[in-house]
Order: sequence, then C-alpha cells, then structure tokens
Amino acid sequence: MLDKVLIANRGEIALRILRACRQLDIPVVAAYSTADQDQKHVLLAEEAVCIGPPAADRSYLNMATLMCTAEVSGATAIHPGYGFLSENADFAESVEESGFIYIGPKAETVRLMADKTSAIQEMSAAGVPCVPGSGGPLGDDDRVNRQIAESIGLPVIIKAVGGGGGRGMHVVHKLSGIAGAVDKARREAASAFGNSLVYMEKYLELPRHVEVQVLADNFGNAIHLGDRDCSSQRRHQKVVEEAPAPGITDAEREHIGALCVAACQRIGYRGAGTFEFLYEDGEFHFIEMNTRIQVEHPVTEMITGVDLVAEQLRIAAGEKLRYTQADIGFSGHAIECRVNAEHPATFVPSPGRITEYHTPGGPGIRIDSHVYGGYSVPPYYDSLIGKLIAHGPDRPTALARAEMALSEMVVEGIHTNLDLHHRILTDPNFVAGKVSIHYLEKKLRAESGK
Ligand code: ADP
Repeated sequence: MLDKVLIANRGEIALRILRACRQLDIPVVAAYSTADQDQKHVLLAEEAVCIGPPAADRSYLNMATLMCTAEVSGATAIHPGYGFLSENADFAESVEESGFIYIGPKAETVRLMADKTSAIQEMSAAGVPCVPGSGGPLGDDDRVNRQIAESIGLPVIIKAVGGGGGRGMHVVHKLSGIAGAVDKARREAASAFGNSLVYMEKYLELPRHVEVQVLADNFGNAIHLGDRDCSSQRRHQKVVEEAPAPGITDAEREHIGALCVAACQRIGYRGAGTFEFLYEDGEFHFIEMNTRIQVEHPVTEMITGVDLVAEQLRIAAGEKLRYTQADIGFSGHAIECRVNAEHPATFVPSPGRITEYHTPGGPGIRIDSHVYGGYSVPPYYDSLIGKLIAHGPDRPTALARAEMALSEMVVEGIHTNLDLHHRILTDPNFVAGKVSIHYLEKKLRAESGK
C-alpha cells in the first residue's frame, strides 16, 4: 500500500480522501492555505502543512510548494482531488518525475484528455460517438469557420480547447454571429485557461447530460460502473446528480459502458475517470473525459457499493483491479444535492461563519462535508459546502429520502441553496426523470418572472 499521501486539495474532497486513506491505514499530510486551517480534514490529519496564502495560485495551484511539502513530509504519493491541479498534465508529470506517485492517470493521458479536441479525435478513433463538430481547433478565417458551421448545421457552440468549469462557451444561431463568438470565446479562453484555441460543435438543443464512470488499472484491466445523470445545471455547472440515469435501458448502459471500457484500454487509462456525454433522441454524444475523481462520485458508490477513492489509492499503489465487470451490480437509486453557500435568489456566494449546523440522517442518507457549527466559509474558493446524498431501493424512495433529509438539514449564519434543491426535487418534470440540461435555468427564469 502507499506509505503516505499528500492531499493537495481542500474542502469536502480533501476530507473524502482522508477518510479513504484512514480506511486503508495510510497516513496523510494535509496541505492547506492560511484561509483553511480550521477545515475538518486539516484538524483530523496526523500531519498538516501550511502551503501559503489564501489565493489559490499561491497555495493549491503552486506546484513547487506542493512538491516541497511532499518531500519534507515524507509523502510518497499525491492525491490531486478535483479542480485545482487535478487535470494539469504538467503537475502530473512533475509529480512523477520527482519520484512521487500521482494518484491518477499517466501525465500523457491527462494531457491527451485535457485538450478537448485531441480527446474527441481519440474517442472518435476508439468508436465512441461524438457531437458533430470541427474535429480540431478553429483557425482565424471566418469564411472557413462559416463553412464548418454550415456543414455541421446551426445552431453551433464555440468552446475552449482547454476549457473547464462550464466557462467560455458561446452558442451561435446565425452564420453572421460566428466571427464575434469565436473572438469572444478566444479572449475568454486565453484569460481563463491560458490557451486561446477554440473549437466548434453542434449545439444540441434538448440533451441530457449522462456520464459513465470507469476504473482501470496498470495492467490493462478496465471496468465501467454505470452512468449518472447530471442534467440539472446552472451556467453549465451541475447542481443535482443521480445514478442510474433515469430512462436509460440496461442494453444502452451496457453498450455505452463497453465502448468506454474499450476506449480506456486503447489509451492505456489508469485510475478513476468519467466519460461525459450529451444524450439526445436515444443517442450518446461524447463531449469530454474527466481524468480524475468527480464531485458526484458518491451516487455511483451508493448504487454499486464500490469505494471509488479507495480504489484510486489501490490502483496507484500498483494493485490489480479487484473487480471484473461481472462483479459490478447496480442496487437501487441515489441522488446527490450539491449544497452551496450562496444567496438563494441571486446565487452570489455567501461566505461567513456558520452559526448552527445540523445534518440529517436515517436510512440511505450520506453527508460529505468539511464544515461544522462555528466554521467560517472563506470567500476565496468555490461555494460548495457539502453534498447531501440519498440512496433508496428505487428512485421514488431516493427522492423521498432526499426531500426528508433536506428538510432536516440546518445551516444558519450564511445563505445556502437548500431551498433550490427542495424546488428541484419536487418539480413534476424532475420527478418524472425527464429534464434536459436547459430545464433548470428555464425554471429559474420562469420563477423569477424574467
Ligand atoms: P466543461 O469542461 O467546461 O464543463 P463540457 O464540455 O463538459 O465543458 O460541457 C459542460 C456543459 O455545457 C454540458 O454538460 C452541457 O450542459 C453544455 N454543453 C457542452 N457542449 C454542448 C453542446 N454541444 N450542445 C449543448 N450543450 C453543450
């Protein structure tokens, strides 16, 4: 097993990693910024090292400091979590070149998938269905770009090759809008991702977001752990996720899962990963692969009984995958609500001190959160304060349990989106399992009368 793991992250995922390490008896080192000294995982870790000031580029994104911290603390492996450096190929590379184990895929795989156009090309070659698109980065000739748009068919969406977090995407409905959208997307991509390359895809009008979880080891073994539906989104960011994706048949699940497994074997994938698709009219269209653990991994854990973070650690330690595809079964249904510190109407982040905090319980309820009563949510990072996950033998029971848990949850002193979750879970279209990626925003617009 791994000797000692440096947790290069914060928040609920840092605590999740600590728990998985504890379970496997692996000591951890928590690397934290000065804004995060009171986080639960920092208090629980046997060792914790302050790595710099609150600004992420001077702490959680500072590769040199993280590497030094691993060195001086005697850590042998680094877990990047999600966000921050988790999909940065240079980081994966320096971790391995410095002699540490990177808990994730090989740096070259991270690089291949971080460039969304090379990911799409690779997946097309592996036989994974993709969204019709430019297939590669766009040039500056508007005439050529218009021709590409015409051949794909309007509307189209301009996306950043190095994109992430739902940022820098522009939908274009008329050919005359292509040049402006490309320009805008380029500028945003350059400032957000340090890479001004953009590409074009057909804009799917009413798709659902359905993704497939995979695990692969160093020995060419790969399995899928079914799908998740993450269609309830705001600004291309997921708000509620569930597994399995409602309405997807077992045959469809097996088919797309097998394609993902074959793709993993083709690219020599290692670790936990997610293939993201847009699903429309019975067809899957690949959009990207996340080469890391995802926020919504618990819904898959609840229905499969597989501890994905523990498996990441085992794979990184060089163990063979402990499961074959035949070992993976799906039991019941799970729903996750991302609880954010944000104003319920404006969605403006709401940092500050949590004065009262009570978590729900009962059958099938899981709370993954790093906060507690008296904890102050810092203003420097994303607003996720925890995840409420409900599992039940079927979707109606999971929904009822999630609803009950939401009503029991108390977070005082800051604003949260708990009420938004209540409105989503009681929405008749959501209950019917039929919402597209645009539904939540449409609903919010209707509710606010705009
Ligand atoms: P990011 O890496 O920034 O999250 P993704 O490619 O994963 O970007 O897309 C995020 C979300 O944006 C998707 O879940 C979907 O809601 C929307 N989106 C992306 N591509 C398309 C498309 N071709 N048509 C319609 N919506 C899209």
